[in-house]
Amino acid sequence: MHDETKCLKVPRAIGAFNSLSVPVHRASTIVFESVEAYQNRRSAIYDGYSYGLYGTPTTRTLEHAIAALEGATRALMVPSGFAAIVLTTLAFCATGQRVFFPDNAYDTVRPFADRFLGRYGIVPVFYDPMIGGGISDLIDSSVQLVWVESPGSMTLEVQDVPAITAACRVKGILTAADNTYATPLRCKPLELGVDISICAASKYISGHSDVVMGSIATNNEDLFRQLKDHSRFLGQGVSADEASLVLRGMETMAVRLDRCEQSALHLLPMLDASNAIREVRHPALAGNPGHEFWKRDFTGSTGLITLFLEPWTQKLLPAAIEAMDQFAIGASWGGTKSVVAVLDSPPLRTATPAPHDGPVVRLSIGMEHPDDLTCSLEKCLTILTGGTPSGETTTKDVGSA
Ligand SMILES: *Cc1c(COP(=O)(O)O)cnc(C)c1O
Repeated sequence: MHDETKCLKVPRAIGAFNSLSVPVHRASTIVFESVEAYQNRRSAIYDGYSYGLYGTPTTRTLEHAIAALEGATRALMVPSGFAAIVLTTLAFCATGQRVFFPDNAYDTVRPFADRFLGRYGIVPVFYDPMIGGGISDLIDSSVQLVWVESPGSMTLEVQDVPAITAACRVKGILTAADNTYATPLRCKPLELGVDISICAASKYISGHSDVVMGSIATNNEDLFRQLKDHSRFLGQGVSADEASLVLRGMETMAVRLDRCEQSALHLLPMLDASNAIREVRHPALAGNPGHEFWKRDFTGSTGLITLFLEPWTQKLLPAAIEAMDQFAIGASWGGTKSVVAVLDSPPLRTATPAPHDGPVVRLSIGMEHPDDLTCSLEKCLTILTGGTPSGETTTKDVGSA
């Protein structure tokens, strides 16, 4: 064999090898033993290996881990949390059919519904997230899929998911849950009667703000196969490298969630006491919409807190946010580092009025020492309430933003 060929025909090192970590298997081409096996490769799309895009040992390992956590028989990884929403919607809704989204759905859902679904003749309907079993009056055979997202994005209403899924099941309508907030460690939507549970693994599951991925889980083999087929038709797959990051993050998810939750609970009283804040939202607060459903259906909360500020704080808000030296300003959440997101007013709603009209601040409480977070928030609240921040001047940690 010539040297040029030897460079290509590198013999594999063989022998027993079993690392404690999950190996990263990169692949496009999968090699088959025979022509017949190659010609039958399509049958491997759901379980085996036929092409790198459709699954590698690394991505299948992650899918099995997610399925086990969700209490599902099947899971499918997709390129982002939003891709999980899009894929699920497109796999089950056809022209002329209606799909229901809660009024507080993840923000990209609304432009997707209004500007994309319409082109394919799929009719989106936004509904009151607190509707519960009352959804029965709105749905008929033209509805193919009802989404729940609990707690909902930004405003954190907890839905009566069992009442909604029961109403849908009676009418033969599929239900899907966006379980990103809770992760399968805090809530298992399939146990609440939902057919499909999706998560943005970009948030708590991977947990380090360095990977974007989504998961879709179900107990229904037929639904799983339709989802997998559609992921193929849409050309979607995930890389082994990124799947391994999610697997690594998942190992510490339970302790990360506990830490973020504890710190958030620790900070709630001080936020509640500030006269700059009209309402604090966190599912563990007795006044949070749907708190009773949270107590019934969840095993805990997380580090996400939403603040509805008094309208008069608007002018001071940028300086107050920038004074929070432990918080990076940015979208997304669920990582190890604290992040703050700011909106001038609550997100658009069409089925229900916005809870308040002032600015909205979302805190993703991270794993810093809670005293440092308290100190950051004190600086913010002092500025908001019109005083000057006590103590030293601060510089934003740009490296962490
Ligand atoms: C972030 C998020 C998504 C989208 O996830 P990406 O991975 O960023 O696409 C979907 N739903 C909820 C509730 C989210 O918070």
